[in-house]
Amino acid sequence: MLTSEPMWRHTTFRVGGPADYFAIPKGEEDLRRLLTSARSADVPVFVLGDGSNLLVADEGIRGVVIDMHRFSEYRLEGDLLVSGAGLEVSDVAWESGTQGYAGLDYFYGMPGSVGGAVWMNARCYGGEIADILSWVEVMNFDGKVERIPMKKEDWDYKISPFQSGSLVILRAAFRIESRDSASLRAAMKERRDDREKKGHYRAPCAGSAFKNNRDFGSPSGVLIDSCGLKGRRSGGAAVSNWHGNILINDRGAKARDILALMEEVAREVERSTGFHMEKEVLAVGDWEADDGGR
Ligand SMILES: Cc1cc2nc3c(=O)[nH]c(=O)nc-3n(C[C@H](O)[C@H](O)[C@H](O)COP(=O)(O)OP(=O)(O)OC[C@H]3O[C@@H](n4cnc5c(N)ncnc54)[C@H](O)[C@@H]3O)c2cc1C
Repeated sequence: MLTSEPMWRHTTFRVGGPADYFAIPKGEEDLRRLLTSARSADVPVFVLGDGSNLLVADEGIRGVVIDMHRFSEYRLEGDLLVSGAGLEVSDVAWESGTQGYAGLDYFYGMPGSVGGAVWMNARCYGGEIADILSWVEVMNFDGKVERIPMKKEDWDYKISPFQSGSLVILRAAFRIESRDSASLRAAMKERRDDREKKGHYRAPCAGSAFKNNRDFGSPSGVLIDSCGLKGRRSGGAAVSNWHGNILINDRGAKARDILALMEEVAREVERSTGFHMEKEVLAVGDWEADDGGR
């Protein structure tokens, strides 16, 4: 168990203060011990995937952060692909695609773990996790493991049932279909190239800062751009010059710079267009202790 582990090392924004404790459980038994002792000592728990959708406070995270990277199994069970929560979803997409299985191929090039993608109901290029999910195995804070079958009605755009509970995702099973591996690999490379062109990997960021809302008629990035906000700055944070919905850590930003910029952008878009954009990036950690850098 590490103490005072800087969270900027574990987030794609490269910001975030120290976690009081940081644990990387080796497997279920280890995780069970961690969760039950945290519960009995009344220590808060935060489950970390790849930190690619997180804005961690400069003051860090109180309690214990549990890094799920060692949950890394990968197996085929008939027409299902079972993946540990800690694997990179992009790696699973590539591996299964190379073996001639379609399903997760949409997610090649998207940062994040399988657990994070399920929790977020990640989506891209017209595919979303809920479309291919069959079941999820979770552990509750008493250490009990349960298999939860997919129920479509519990899922929506960027909404999963896991967002309202405190369950740790251990592994997930996805429906796959046989396809020609060469064409799958070519399609995956194309999507990755597209991300490259859109500047996804150009600077530390967490992907789309705001959700898209179909009722607005335009994606959030277009709304932000139409308000002339590309390039807008707050301290070391900036709205990227290449995509309105990508906010970046440009020059040594603090988490508070990024949050302030997000709030300013949302305010200006609402003032000009009347649309209230919802944050997609999750602000987590000890924001209450933030004193604005004084
Ligand atoms: C360059 C870039 C491009 C992106 N493009 C897209 C895109 O096209 N589409 C899209 O949907 N998103 C995109 N994102 C956002 C991000 O990649 C996704 O939201 C991703 O699914 C987050 O996964 P993660 O493992 O990083 O989760 P984290 O950011 O670590 O965590 C997100 C949430 O999931 C919870 N969580 C993670 N793992 C578990 C687990 N095992 N059990 C319980 N809870 C867990 C965390 O507690 C947290 O609440 C992009 C991000 C970047 C940086």
